[in-house]
Amino acid sequence: MQLTERIRIYPTQEQEDVLWYLSERCRLIYNFALAEREREWILNNLRADFELFPWGEPYYEVDMKKQQNELPKTKEKYPKYKAVYSKVLQMAIRTLNADYNSFFEQRKNGDLNAHPPGFKGKDHFTTMMYNQSGFSIKGQEISLSHFYNEVPLVFELLRKYDKVYQVNVYQKKGKYYLGIVHEVPEKPYVDNGLYQAIDLGVTKTATAINTQGKFYETSNSRPDQYWNPKVDAIQARRDHCIKGSKHWHRLNRAKNKLTSKCSNQIKDIQHKLTRKMVDNTKANTIIVGDLDVKEMAQSKNTKLSKKAKKSLNRSTQNNGYLSQFVGFLTYKAALIGKKVIEVDERYTSKKCYVCGTKHDMPLWKRTMECDCGNVIGRDRNSAIFIMLRFLSQNAMWSGYQQFVDNLRKTGLMLPKQAPSAYS
Ligand SMILES: [Zn+2]
Repeated sequence: MQLTERIRIYPTQEQEDVLWYLSERCRLIYNFALAEREREWILNNLRADFELFPWGEPYYEVDMKKQQNELPKTKEKYPKYKAVYSKVLQMAIRTLNADYNSFFEQRKNGDLNAHPPGFKGKDHFTTMMYNQSGFSIKGQEISLSHFYNEVPLVFELLRKYDKVYQVNVYQKKGKYYLGIVHEVPEKPYVDNGLYQAIDLGVTKTATAINTQGKFYETSNSRPDQYWNPKVDAIQARRDHCIKGSKHWHRLNRAKNKLTSKCSNQIKDIQHKLTRKMVDNTKANTIIVGDLDVKEMAQSKNTKLSKKAKKSLNRSTQNNGYLSQFVGFLTYKAALIGKKVIEVDERYTSKKCYVCGTKHDMPLWKRTMECDCGNVIGRDRNSAIFIMLRFLSQNAMWSGYQQFVDNLRKTGLMLPKQAPSAYS
């Protein structure tokens, strides 16, 4: 499995100068390549059909391959670019291509707010990617190739790595980092007959049930509820300014700072929580509800009120946090020989797991009370349902029976429907 590790580096003034010089070449290449693609777009009058592109993505004659192939010529004409290791320049063009692709993808998903990539301003430190080559690691020291001057770009690593695929050099808030994409051995997965089903909720972070019928619930910490009102307030102030003005920029920076504080806190909590969840279960198979992005479809409808737009943004944001959670869970599990499987979570919080009756369950309704006598927390119902669905979809009948027996032992009601009703 490939993981990326972030390492802070402390370049000397001389090294910093080199990094900026190289980054500047990459930035200009990115901008030139972008200008070329934009020009082609205008020449072909593609902009007119921009909103729809019913045939799929606009066709480009100037594509990544062509632009990369022209790099040697550019270097002959403008020798300054020879300072950068060739693959790094190629990767700058690749980044542009990726930016375009993600833009097309967003448009296809109906997000009309998506913008095509823009030019990078002169203060922008362009991330430099050393892909497969251009760097060498000796012990705990990494050295990055460049041909600008004699100053070596050598930095200290914190540990040794088995196999490094790529090294990204980037800057964030004036600090420099290396992103080391490296190989981490996975432990082979063995199905040990124990399962844990997790319902990822909005109010509780996670409610899980295992094969033994025991619940595990994580208490809820919501930094976003603390930060969101503050973000809203500053955003409202920003929106009263003239867009692009000095004051607007100042408020925008302040807003971004709060947003990133919030998402960092959430990230931190999720890292710790997923680590605990993966370590503390005996189950080798962890089942989570599949989060589909149904909200995205709604954004096709452009005429939303401001309030509706905000709540939509918040719920997409929440989906983002949840899929980040699943991402952390998945790789942490794989490292220790466990596996995360996603199961369709449709109706799992609406249908009673005992009799299958569908209930109206608005978000504020925390308990499901069914006529069949089942009274249970909404998240717990969902977790049991996910477990039953997983077992029946995979025809694991002995596991199914075992789970049902354990539900009886813990005093929970037994499913009254045929197993196939859950899949
Ligand atoms: Zn029921």
